[in-house]
Amino acid sequence: MADLNIPDAPAIPGAEHLHSGKVRDLYVLGSGDLLMVASDRISAYDFVLDTTIPDKGEILTRMSLWWFDQLRDVVDNHVISTDVPEAVRGRAVVCERLEMFPVECVARGYLTGSGLREYDESGEVCGIPLPAGLVDGSRLPRAIFTPATKAAVGDHDENVSFDAVVAEVGADPAERLRDLTLTVYTRAEDLARERGIILADTKFEFGRRPDGTTVLADEVLTPDSSRFWPVDRWVPGTPQPSFDKDVVRGWLTSPESGWDRTSGEAPPPLPAEVVERTRARYVQAYELLTGQSF
Ligand code: ATP
Ligand code: MG
Repeated sequence: MADLNIPDAPAIPGAEHLHSGKVRDLYVLGSGDLLMVASDRISAYDFVLDTTIPDKGEILTRMSLWWFDQLRDVVDNHVISTDVPEAVRGRAVVCERLEMFPVECVARGYLTGSGLREYDESGEVCGIPLPAGLVDGSRLPRAIFTPATKAAVGDHDENVSFDAVVAEVGADPAERLRDLTLTVYTRAEDLARERGIILADTKFEFGRRPDGTTVLADEVLTPDSSRFWPVDRWVPGTPQPSFDKDVVRGWLTSPESGWDRTSGEAPPPLPAEVVERTRARYVQAYELLTGQSF
């Protein structure tokens, strides 16, 4: 398990710290509800960088809220309110504490990443056969559900078959997760494409209410949980430029950074110019999608 370099979560009065991921800190409020706080941390190559991107947490929180709103007629979501403690205003939401399904519900409309690797080996992704001749960045004939198991912190998620999901959660819930994942993704992909962004793939997490309802949880359709590609630069057959981390990854792997990715050492701090360009990408994605200025 890699040392992820996640800093201690700040104390928040009235909230008990529960968990910190690479980017978000989770707390439980006195009411029993969850407080989900998006920090300005950014991760690349499985490291949480020492340098933060100003406003990133707020941008992604607002983007996620915007999506929940767009999707409210398709699926219930876990958001209760944005009335949060002053210290995390704008970057946090209060949400229902759900019993989470232990499945990363991934939808892919385009082939790349681990999907492409599986396809190149077997012609299938998560047991789903695909047509021959697809290349990096190809649009799939229709979106596919390619679930993964949630890995422990620092480990990579593992793609699994639909049958493995059935074995984990039961047949009816598995079908519900698949249907919701594909319905929500397809709706979102359409909407984003009209606005200049290709949502190549995305990961949802769902939870269950005590009454059994399935609810869309976690963050949704942000660059941290999805691949965002600019529509006008989409060229299948080559790696697509991504909206968010290209600047950071490009700099880290350039001679200028002096960092050797294979060394196992933590990456160096980012120069101010790289931080500013990265921030601008997040702002641009938010503004393109929502039509609102940040
Ligand atoms: P990573 O940095 O790889 O994402 P992580 O998933 O452990 O690691 P976070 O995504 O920050 O870190 O953690 C958020 C956690 O909260 C996840 O375990 C997610 O399943 C859980 N979660 C999200 N929404 C809810 C909810 N409504 N109720 C209960 N748990 C939730
Ligand atoms: Mg997570």
